[in-house]
Order: sequence, then C-alpha cells, then structure tokens
Amino acid sequence: MVDIAYIRGQFPILETKVRNKYPLVYLDNAATTQKPFAVINALLDYYTKYNANVHRGVHYLSGLATDMFEQSRDTVRAFINASCKEEIVFTRGTTESINLVAHSFCKTFLTKQDTVMITQMEHHSNIVPWQIARDNFGFKLDYLTFDDNGELENLKEKILSVKPKLLSLCHISNTLGTVNDIKEIIAFCHQNGCLVLIDGAQSVAHQIIDVQDLDADFFVFSGHKVYAPMGIGVLYAKKDILETMDVYHGGGEMIKEVTMEKTTYNDLPYKFEAGTPSVADAVGLAAALSWLKSMDMPSIISYEDSLLQYAEGRLKEIKGIRIFGNAKHKSSCISFLADGVHHLDLGTLLDAMGVAIRTGHHCAEPVMQRFGIEGTDRLSVAAYTSHQEIDTFISSLNKALGMLR
Ligand SMILES: *Cc1c(COP(=O)(O)O)cnc(C)c1O
Repeated sequence: MVDIAYIRGQFPILETKVRNKYPLVYLDNAATTQKPFAVINALLDYYTKYNANVHRGVHYLSGLATDMFEQSRDTVRAFINASCKEEIVFTRGTTESINLVAHSFCKTFLTKQDTVMITQMEHHSNIVPWQIARDNFGFKLDYLTFDDNGELENLKEKILSVKPKLLSLCHISNTLGTVNDIKEIIAFCHQNGCLVLIDGAQSVAHQIIDVQDLDADFFVFSGHKVYAPMGIGVLYAKKDILETMDVYHGGGEMIKEVTMEKTTYNDLPYKFEAGTPSVADAVGLAAALSWLKSMDMPSIISYEDSLLQYAEGRLKEIKGIRIFGNAKHKSSCISFLADGVHHLDLGTLLDAMGVAIRTGHHCAEPVMQRFGIEGTDRLSVAAYTSHQEIDTFISSLNKALGMLR
C-alpha cells in the first residue's frame, strides 16, 4: 500500500497556498515533478560540504566531489540496470541526449541512403534534432503514424518496407499517455537490422526500466521528471555503440591529450561529457532515484495507474468531454477538451482555483495536427497525487465549465 500522506509530507512545495488562498493541486507532473526533502537536502549537503570541480584536482574536496559524481553515475546505472558505468553519459536532459545521438550516431553510422524513423506522437525534442541532423548529413527521415486511439499503426509493415537504421520513439507519450510496447518493438526492430532509441522522459518515473531486459540501444531521460533537479539528464547507450560513435561537444573533460594541432579523446563516458558537469544535480538525481526505489516503486506505479483510471472515469461523467488518447495501455497523463471551451480559458479558470494543469500543444504539435486541434488540457500525476486532489480538480472543472458554457 502507498502511504500517500507520508509521501506528500516529503514534498514541502505541496503545502503552497495558491495566491494565499487555494491549496495547490499540482497536476502538471508530465512537465516537471516536485522535489522531495531527500533531493533538496542532497543539494544543500553537496554545496555545504563537498563542492569542487571534478576529475581535475588533486585536492581533498575535488576528490570528494569526484567520488560523489561517480557514485551518482553508479546509482543511475543500477536504477536502469545498465551493465557498466561507461554506458551512462550525463547530459542536461532528454533534449540534449537526443541531440547528441542525432548528431554523433548519424554522423558516424548513416549514409545518404539510410533512414531514421520517428513517430507522429513524439515530443518536439524527438523530432527537431533528427530534422537538423537530416539537413546536416543528408539521410532520410520518415515517421510512423498513430490511429484515433493514439496507438502506433502499421509499425511492422513500415519497418519491413522502409528498413530504417534507427527507430527513435517515446516509451510513453507525454500528450496521449500511450504506453508503447517497447520490448516487443525493440525485438522486432533488431530482427530487421534497426537500432532503437527510447525516449524515456515520461516513463522513468512511471515504469520499472531495465535496459538490458529491453535490449534498448539508447535510452534517454531527464532528471526533473523523476523528482530530481532540472539541468541533469541521462543518455544510456550500449558500450560498443558509444565506443565507435563520433564525439559531440568538444572541450575540457572529454580529452586525453590536446596539442595545437590535434586532440585525442578520453575514455567512455567522459568522451561525451565536455565541460564542467552539473555535479550537484547528478548527486540530486541519484538521491531522487534512491528515494523512489525506497518508496516501493511497483506499488507507486499501480497506485498512479488506478488514480489515472479514477480521473478518467470521473472526467467521462462530465458532458461534452473528449479525451485524446484512448490506447489500451496508458500512463502518466490524460489529455482532454471540453466542447465549446477553449483549452486556455479552462486552464486559466482552474488556476484561479489553485489547480495546475497544462494547456496547449505540450511540445507535440504533430499530435495536435493529427486531430485537427490547437491544443488540449492535460492533467498528469505523480507519486504524491491524491484522490482528493482529483476530486478537487473535477469539482473545479465543473465550476469552470459552468462559467464558460
Ligand atoms: C519532457 C519530455 C521531453 C523533453 O525533456 P527535457 O527535459 O525538456 O529535455 C522529451 N520527451 C518527452 C516524452 C517528454 O515528456
């Protein structure tokens, strides 16, 4: 059982009174999650006792900071069950991780005849980097579509006919809530000579991730969507791929030796970590993952799923609500529109009652184009979301609709 009061007690921001009046109902977790004391204190502790630049100094603090940074890498490794620390590259987040792969993988491995496949349900950060790389390197870019329910369609046919070298897709759509069956998709792609990158930005907080069991070639995520600080993220990739992949950013840390003529590069994973890293945020990420593990993740996941089902059931009781994304397997969020009501007006009125939801295209404009709409309202849950908050959301929604309709 999930002790929701206990969990909520660990997130001080949840005590916020919106404009000194309404208790905060925070349902924008797909955009970013709040931070528990375990993470806040880890940052405080790091800057109070350990701060120094890593990997460079012979001095005491530099040694401590380096140890903490590398321990954090190992915590991340264990959390997603990567086989070694060389496979864990720290980045600023999902966006930077995908840009790194789009640049370095495509530059190293793709010719003009090759195709990268993405999908119509991706976040912009899993679309734009591929378009930029396509324009730089001249390979082909194609995409899989999804059906009215928000499930990918014709995946096998398209992989067989187009024979892409890489498929890059989300584990969970940040707009439709669709959970893609990535284990099966990866196995099928591998049988057909196609590597797979998983955008795990939405899934890392809502699914147990085992990159070896999935056999993912790349798995990327952002710390801030899994209770960790902003500014830190992860690129997991299989070691043999990373080893042959060309470098991305150049600078300190990623080098072995530099002369005025040329540079030899550092070993993995440092080869891909140019410049001073966000050490404190990496420590914060490790604290967040340890915290989540200690909270009994399987029960949190089933709790969140039942909460979403509850919210969806209550939403469906309201007249004229259309839900976007009705996949068989959903998680993380629900997108909806109320007939005759602009998504932004609804979000604004809910905010006036202390309820924080997301409005707009959720950085997934092609999803909106698929449905011929401009945006949706989106609620998304986390481990600390309560049934009472869903009830407050529903009653506030009814009030807002009474005013708008
Ligand atoms: C949030 C999100 C991203 C982008 O993450 P950043 O932290 O902004 O880099 C990418 N994909 C999905 C599915 C997301 O939810």
